[in-house]
Amino acid sequence: MAPKPRAGLLDIKPYRGGVSDAPGFAAPTKLSSNENCFGCSPVAIAALHEMDGSIDRYPDGGVQQLRDALAQKHNLPAGQIVCGCGSDEILQLLGKAYLREGDEVVHAQNGFLSYKLIALQNGAVPVPAPEDNMCIDAASFLSVITTRTRIVFLANPNNPTGFLMPGAEVRKLHAGLPDDVLLVIDGAYAEYVRGDDYEGGFALVDKHDNVMATRTFSKSYGLAGLRVGWAYCPDQIAAVLNRVRSPFNVNAVAQKVALAALQDEAFLAKSVDHVAHWAPWLVEKVSKAGLKAWPSAGNFVLIGLQTPEQADAAEQFLAARGLILRGMRGFGLPGCLRMTIGTEDENRTVMAAFSAFMGQ
Ligand SMILES: *Cc1c(COP(=O)(O)O)cnc(C)c1O
Repeated sequence: MAPKPRAGLLDIKPYRGGVSDAPGFAAPTKLSSNENCFGCSPVAIAALHEMDGSIDRYPDGGVQQLRDALAQKHNLPAGQIVCGCGSDEILQLLGKAYLREGDEVVHAQNGFLSYKLIALQNGAVPVPAPEDNMCIDAASFLSVITTRTRIVFLANPNNPTGFLMPGAEVRKLHAGLPDDVLLVIDGAYAEYVRGDDYEGGFALVDKHDNVMATRTFSKSYGLAGLRVGWAYCPDQIAAVLNRVRSPFNVNAVAQKVALAALQDEAFLAKSVDHVAHWAPWLVEKVSKAGLKAWPSAGNFVLIGLQTPEQADAAEQFLAARGLILRGMRGFGLPGCLRMTIGTEDENRTVMAAFSAFMGQ
């Protein structure tokens, strides 16, 4: 008999990233994975080129320099920072460390797909908290908590809806959870948030043992291919993560380039300002074209077509013009497309194509 994996593993639908090619286009416009339309910092690229070939040595398994730099930038104790091969690895490690068969993992109805996969990978049950028109509040999350709940994943801002939960609601959610339920505040898009009503979790971590925050270099820093993310967590959770992660989970190139990227505050500011300008512009244009778009606190906009078939047709119409958006069938939103905010030219081109599609 062939080797058998744990029950249920083969029922998981493997995660599929955003499409990156459009037939007939050598360099299509890829707006399907929320990458940074400006690429990454030239300082990061310079650091990459300066790599002196020393890849024959193991990296620093403790990722000390990068953790120290993150600690300094965010005014946090470095000992409570854990780095990962993307923030996704950290989420995966939480599943591996904290979930047992039959446990429940709570996530927003239209939350980030990884949360569901992490539950299933560990024999746990994903439990969606209902949204209302792509919005969600603390009460909704709290209404689905049971004695079996182990982890609550909150992406804030959320992907793919773009919804931002106000600070007071995040604190209310945390306050309503039993002490043994872990709240994970996934801040993959934290840098894009405007205004000061943002609860990214750092302050909660300082006061409680059952909450943590994750961040990534993949989105606003434009380093998705490098795979670096990190978590700020209570000491006990850092101790667990440092035991379940692989000893060299952040490679030498990634450590060096991420450290350089962190120094380039101008690049980050430019990226964030660009999104602050174009996200509302896109929402307005989409509405004018007779479609629905939800306000977004991230570097992407969720666009609602009238039917799933119309969404498929729009996706194909755009792809035939070299414009790749993300179809949302895999996210359980078959009538929607998600568009990453592009350069000015890209945004204008996509909106012109949308108008042409609606007018045809
Ligand atoms: C992109 C994304 C991540 C994963 O990012 P990494 O590249 O693994 O750091 C995590 N959470 C959300 C909500 C995301 O959109």
